[in-house]
Parts: sequence; structure tokens; C-alpha cells
Amino acid sequence: MILNGTAASPGIGIGRVALVEEPDLSYTSRTVEDTAAETERFNAAIAAYVDYTNAQADTMREQVGEKEAEILTGHVVMISDPFMQGEMTKLIDGGTCAEDAVVQICEMFATMFEATGDELTMQRATDVRDVKTGVLAELLNKRPVDIGALPQDTIIVTHDLTPSMTAGIRPGVIAAVVTETGGLTSHSAILARAMELPAVLSLPNACAILKQGDLLIVNGTAGAVTTEPTDEELALARNAQAAYAAEKAELAKFVGCRSVTADGHQIELFANIGKPEDATGAMERDAEGIGLFRTEFLFMDKPTVPTEDEQFEAYKKAAIICKGKPVIIRTLDIGGDKDVPSLGMEPEENPFLGFRAVRYCLAREDLYRTQLRALLRASAFGDIRIMVPLVTCIDELTAVKDLLARYMLEFKQEGIAYNPDIQVGIMVETPAAAIMADALAEEADFFSIGTNDLTGYTMCADRGNEKVRYLYSTYNPAVLRSIKRVIEEGNKAGIMVGMCGEAAADPLLIPLWISFGLGEYSVSATSVLATRKQVSLWTKAEADELAEKVMQLKTAAEIHDALQAAKK
Ligand code: PEP
Ligand code: MG
Repeated sequence: MILNGTAASPGIGIGRVALVEEPDLSYTSRTVEDTAAETERFNAAIAAYVDYTNAQADTMREQVGEKEAEILTGHVVMISDPFMQGEMTKLIDGGTCAEDAVVQICEMFATMFEATGDELTMQRATDVRDVKTGVLAELLNKRPVDIGALPQDTIIVTHDLTPSMTAGIRPGVIAAVVTETGGLTSHSAILARAMELPAVLSLPNACAILKQGDLLIVNGTAGAVTTEPTDEELALARNAQAAYAAEKAELAKFVGCRSVTADGHQIELFANIGKPEDATGAMERDAEGIGLFRTEFLFMDKPTVPTEDEQFEAYKKAAIICKGKPVIIRTLDIGGDKDVPSLGMEPEENPFLGFRAVRYCLAREDLYRTQLRALLRASAFGDIRIMVPLVTCIDELTAVKDLLARYMLEFKQEGIAYNPDIQVGIMVETPAAAIMADALAEEADFFSIGTNDLTGYTMCADRGNEKVRYLYSTYNPAVLRSIKRVIEEGNKAGIMVGMCGEAAADPLLIPLWISFGLGEYSVSATSVLATRKQVSLWTKAEADELAEKVMQLKTAAEIHDALQAAKK
């Protein structure tokens, strides 16, 4: 049987299903009569948690490092504390069920840690909450799947691939990913592409239809999943895998070439990354710089907020890997669909319009200071540029620049090296910023158009919501007019205008970007060479002629069809 979803990350994976679900840890509180039996159940859960966590720490030590493993062994030390366990068993002796005892005592400790106001101690609140979740999972028999321990050729099938799940994925071991939700620009799709992991997203009821251990063919290029494949289908899939590898080899011819249109107009071709190590892959694929380093992934993968030194090392590493090429680092863009558990952000009714990104950072100067200082220090090691996300008004940019000026002064007094001419630019990803592009261009050193969010906010359609998927389209003339205007205003002011949303690599849209005068394209590392090839196929005059025609059309569908018909 062939099931269809969204083709989110190209390539073909063949393997067996592992169903990966975030466990539901809800339970009903109850009063316990047989307190001895409940204590026994509690002790068994603790023992199982300790064994499981120690085993995870061993894997982490082997695959990542000692420091990361210590976070897990720290959890074992915490739950083994006789005082903490004693408080829990006291509650159970009084008739409280084990689940409530664990939640109450862990929360008591977490609140106590948080109240100290000391950064290090406050981080222990996150640890104790992790312990709470782990022990609850044992009590409820709902242990999460350890992605890092899955066998070779596994296909992950899950409701939604969260960034923390992605962190556990070992490339080369996981063959593909299938999810029930998420669109082309969801973070799971972006991460899957970055890891060159074939992915089919938004396959309705995937977790119910596909069974643990099923053999599947996942075609991430076509968005198709084949269940119970026949020998013939398997042979065809293997051939397709070989053809895909050959296509990649063909693109390899573009390594070392300049990024120019057919008539010699040069553009800059950068890559998007989520971790400093990704810069290695980007450079290997011949990116000319990094156009977007999404720093939130440094925060999302960890149980604690990274310190200034840790961040400094990460940014410096990216700068050093890029050997003097530009590295545009975006400051923390959290909120919306990107939660950072260690920050304990409060849930909001409308998180995409809420307290997020630069708004949150400007209100949390303690947090922002750490990041901005780390960026400034790292700027002494390469061409680091700072990019502010989700800007809606000039005040936000000036506030960030004021903070930077203050930290530069501190460094001057402390004799710490930094680049005093560091460029500070903005993401243009809100309709407000697009409308104010002329004024913002006077303050910003560069623009980078975030088409993922600009499409969503312009069309008032969440990128992850399937019901409004028909509206979420960068082909919509409202979005294209907005992008055209931003590029024109930026060019008029003489600043660099780039694009780092997924549309920068869309082969159908590339002639429009050429015509509008886009200067820098930042795409996933795996799309660098394909984008260089697409750009090379068009002359400016051909692109202008197509854009002239297309920009008169009134619907996304008409525009898509016209671009498709003109595709080279
Ligand atoms: C964007 O909005 O286009 C963008 C690049 O940022 P993100 O996808 O991380 O929101
Ligand atoms: Mg964005």
C-alpha cells in the first residue's frame, strides 16, 4: 500500500518502523490503602529509573562526551539522595500515591531552587523536574523511546519530530522519518533536511497505521510511504536510491564554481545551520558563508541554559570553521513552536503573537547579555555578524544596538578583544518590518528575509496547521509583493539583502529572486549546490521577463503554475 504525505526532505530510506511517542504522563491521584505495596512499587520505579539513566549516560559518554553524560549521572545522584527519597516515602506512608509523592517533593525542591535567584542553583530546578518526569514515566510504565539506542536502518514514526528527539538521531543509523504533523517549513523538516534524512511529514494517522517493526520504503522526494513492499518495489527503491546518489554526484560539479547567473550577475550563497559543527558540512558543500545560525538549538538540546563561555566557544567554533567567511548568527529566537524547557517560559494563549524572540530577550537582559557578550567575544575570531529575529519596529533594533554598545564598553575596560565594527542586521519576517523596510534599512547593516514567518504572518496562517495549509504559500502575491519591496528598499539603502527562509532554495522562485535583486541566498547545506545550479540557469533579462508576467497574476495557484511552466 502507498500512503501519501508531505515530501519534506529528499532521499529514499528503507528500514523498519520504531514508533516514538512522547509519553502521556497524566494520571489520576488516589489515596493508598496498602502503603507497603505502594512503597515497593515506588522503590521498583526508582531502581528502574536509576538503571535506565545510567545506561543512557553510558551511551551519551560514548557518543557525545563526558560533560553531557554527567548531566544524567547528576540525575541519578539527585534521586538517590536519602533525604529526598525519605520525604517521598513519608508521604506514601501517609496514604499518598507514589505518583503524587514524586510530583509534590520534586516540585517542592524545584521551587526552592528557583527561589534562590542564583543561576547555577536555579538550573537544578530543571534537573529535578527531569527526574520527576523520568520517575513518573517508570511508575506509569511509559518510558520514552531512547532514539540514540535505536538499531541500524530504523524508520522513526512519530506524531511530531521534536528538536529534542532530533538531537538523539545518529545520521547513518536512522533511515528516514515519518510524522503525522508538520509542514515543509516546520522545524522538524528543516532539521531532517540538515541531516539529509529522508522525511515524509503530515501522514495522517501514521502512528496508528504503521506498526512497530514494519518494513517500509520512505520516499522523501515524492512524499510517499510504501508499506509491506514487494521484492520488486524494494528493488525499484534501491535503484532510486542509486539514482539519487548519482544526482548528488552531478551537483558536485558545481563545487568550486562562482555563484552567478547565466549572464554573470554574482550572488552570495550561504548556508543555514543549527549547531557550530554543521558549519563543517556547509563548508564541505561549498557554502560561501553562514547566512543563518539558529542559536536556539544550543538552548533547546540542553537541560540548562548555556553559559557565556559555552556560547562563546560555540560561536567561536563556527567562526573558525568558516575561516573568515561571514557567519550570521541569529540571537535567540524562542517561543512560537520553539520551547526552551530550561527557561520555564509560561504558556500563552497565542504564542506566535506573544512574548517571543527579541521581545523576550529584551525583557530578560540577564539572558540576552550572556548571548550578546558571547557573540562579541567570538567576533574577534572571524566575520561574525549579529542578526535580530522577529523585529517589528525600529525601537527593538536600537535597544539591541544600545546593549551591544554597553557591552563593548565593558570589554574595552576589561581589555577583552571584539570586533568594534560588527554588523548588526535584522530578519525581515513580520509584515510590520516589511512595511517599514525603508526606515529599518537606515538602522540595520543588513536584511535577511525570513520567508517562513513572513508567509505565515502575512497570510495569518500558521505554518504547522494543516487546515490553513492552502493559505500558507510564499507564491501568494501578497507575500511576493512584500518580498519585492523589502529587497528594493534594502538595495536602495545600499545594505545587503539576503533571504534565509526555505523559499531561498525553491527552484521555481529563484528567477523571481534574481529579478528582484536578492543579493544573498541562505539555504540548507544540502541545497547549496542545487541553488547554485538553479541560479546559473537564468539570465537577468529572462528572470525580469518572467517576474513581470508573474507579478501581475492574482492568486498563488496561478503564480505557481506560471513558474512551473517556465522552470528550466
Ligand atoms: C524564517 O522565518 O523564515 C526563518 C528563517 O526563521 P525560522 O524558520 O527559524 O523561524
Ligand atoms: Mg522565523
